[in-house]
Order: sequence, then structure tokens, then C-alpha cells
Amino acid sequence: MNFQSTSPPDTVFLITAAGSSTRFTGNVKKELISFNGKPLLAWSLCACRESGVIRRVLIVHTPDMEHETREAAAGETDGLEVHFTAGGSTRQESVFLGLEYLAHLELPPSYVLIHDGARPWVSARCIQEVLSTCAEYGGAAPVVPLSDAVKQIDSSSRIAGHCDRNSTFGVQTPQGFVFSGILRAHRLAREQQTSYIDDTEVYGDSGGTVMTIPGEETNRKITYQSDLAFCPSQVPQNASVGHGWDVHRLIPGRPLILGGITIPSDKGEDGHSDGDALLHAVIDGMFGACTLGDIGSHFPPEDSSWKDASSMKLLELAAGKLKDAGAEVLHIDATVVLERPKLRPYIESMRKSIAETLSLPLSAVSVKAKTSEGLPPAGTGDAVEAFAVVSAQFMKGI
Ligand code: MG
Repeated sequence: MNFQSTSPPDTVFLITAAGSSTRFTGNVKKELISFNGKPLLAWSLCACRESGVIRRVLIVHTPDMEHETREAAAGETDGLEVHFTAGGSTRQESVFLGLEYLAHLELPPSYVLIHDGARPWVSARCIQEVLSTCAEYGGAAPVVPLSDAVKQIDSSSRIAGHCDRNSTFGVQTPQGFVFSGILRAHRLAREQQTSYIDDTEVYGDSGGTVMTIPGEETNRKITYQSDLAFCPSQVPQNASVGHGWDVHRLIPGRPLILGGITIPSDKGEDGHSDGDALLHAVIDGMFGACTLGDIGSHFPPEDSSWKDASSMKLLELAAGKLKDAGAEVLHIDATVVLERPKLRPYIESMRKSIAETLSLPLSAVSVKAKTSEGLPPAGTGDAVEAFAVVSAQFMKGI
């Protein structure tokens, strides 16, 4: 069915945003966090507007978060009639309450598309196809092939069955239905106190047919913070860059520590802490990328607790401060300028210690070493200098 030439049937796009987000760390409601300047929830509203087939939206929110949910949706409601209602303690109950809300509208819809608020990158095409397919068959859902083989596991964690990969798919949302049919199915499920995995099962169990359409790899559900790293390439990451620099005088009788590695040398860094210039530059770059001040403001030299402190400890604390601010490091490129000794044999150990402390892959940490052609202060052997460029990704909550 092509809605481009005819007016689309009256449809409500029902977004569920009433879950607890327990698997999403950071103590935030995931549908409400800002991603690339827009709350996750608002990305689905964008797709509704782009689709041209949705006029009405119902957002089912956590009971005590109506205000925050309304604020998150506010920027993307032009051209849409957006309703809000409180959800329940399970997804099934939230959908049921949403459907009951619609049933009591003066003009209940002909079709409803039920969508997870945590799937921000649904496309306009997917919305159009789900609607046209459910208008034809009664129910429709996007599915994707599974790359891993699917097994049944018994209660003692043993493989008990081997599912046929050709007939097994992952199901996404939105799932579209004739409104009267899904309402009846949910009322029946409620009456019989039956729990279902999703709305296609609720609908199917009451005799409805659900036709599948090809889903999209990009229409991912955000469950864990790390899922945000898989956003489609057309959605720019909210990334930033910071720069760090440090210099320390080299004096006899002190150890030379760079990147947390002690390097045999007749001179080492003079400094309040262990003087690890490389880590100090990296930490300053991290704070710079997140506009969090500098190393001195977080670990002031006049504070005696940092006297002779291990800079690895400072790096660990700095990473915690970034995490608290909703940010994480993506990549580090650092350069150490030192006349002697030669640093080449220690570069890999430095990269490894930094990567491990920041829980980054080794490929995300680059350390380079240079001399300074005899020019002061590093070139004359009087100092060690370090530069770092750090990129970070912001996932700041509202
Ligand atoms: Mg320093």
C-alpha cells in the first residue's frame, strides 16, 4: 500500500519509555539522556515527522517522570499531536495502559505502531513499511537475521536444542497492529494474567497475523552505555578534543617515570608528585576534552595528599571524574620529548599501562618519542617534555 499518493490511515505511534533502565549505568533514565544534543526519545519523534505518515504520538512514561519526559520531547513535536500517559511496572503493562488511554480518546486510532523509546535510530522508511504492511495484514514487525547460531539452553546451562538459523530472526520495533485487534489481545492477556515477550506474541496468541518486513541493522536497542558506540554513522558522535602539555626538570637522585613505567636513568623528574610528565599531559588532555579544568585544579600541588603520589593513581582518579561527568576517552596520541635515554624499548609498556588503567584497547593509545636536536630545555638533557591530544565522547545526562 502506498501512502504517498493517498492520505495515511489514522495511526498513533506509541513510544514506551517507562522501563527502569537498570542495565544502563550512570543512574540516568536512558530515553532521556542527551545524545548529539538531542534526548534519545526525541530521535524517534524526528523519524515520525520525517515519515509523513504519523500525526499522533503517545509517550508512555515512568509515573514520576512526566515532567522530564515532556521536556525531552519538547524540541521535536512540531506537526505532531503528542500525548503522555503513565506506564506500569512491566513493559506489557505499560503498553496495555497506553492502549487503554487511546481507547478512551474521542477518536481512537485505526492503527497503532508500538515502539521502544530506547530505539532512537528507527528510520522513516521502517515506520512507513510497518504501517503499510499492518494495514494489509493486520500486524507487522521488522526482523533482522541473526549472525550467531541460536541454541536452547536447559535449566542447568546445557545446550538442549539447536534452532534452525534460516527460520530464526531477531525482532525489532515499531510493531504495527490494527488498533482494535491489539487492544482486544492485550485486554485478554490482562484478564488471563499471561506474560508475553512482546506485542507480536500478544497479538499472535489471540489469533492475529503478523507479517514481517526487513528490519535495519542500525535500528538498535540501547540497553547498555556501550550500545551508544554503535550509533549509525549518519549520527555524528558528540565528541570533543583536548590538548595537554607538561614539562619537568630532570635532576639526579630521582627516578625517571614516564607513562607509569620506571626507566633506568641517572636523572629523574623533579616534582611534587612522581613527576610523570607523560601522564600529566594525558590527564590535562582528558580534562581539556571535557572542559573540566586542569590537573592542578583537581590535584593541587599545595595539597599534601599528592606529595610523591603515583601519577597512575591520578590517571585513574581523572578517568573517574570524566565518568561522573558522563564522558569517556576515545583515543590518546602523546609525544614525549627527551634527549636520553632512548625511550623506544619502553613505548609498548607505556601504551599498555595507560590503556589498562583507562580500560581502553591498546589501539586507542599512541605514544611517540622524540629528541629535541640539542635545543633547550629537553634537548640539553635538563628536562622532559610531553604533549598529548585526547579525544573524548560526551554522554551527559539531562
Ligand atoms: Mg607535571
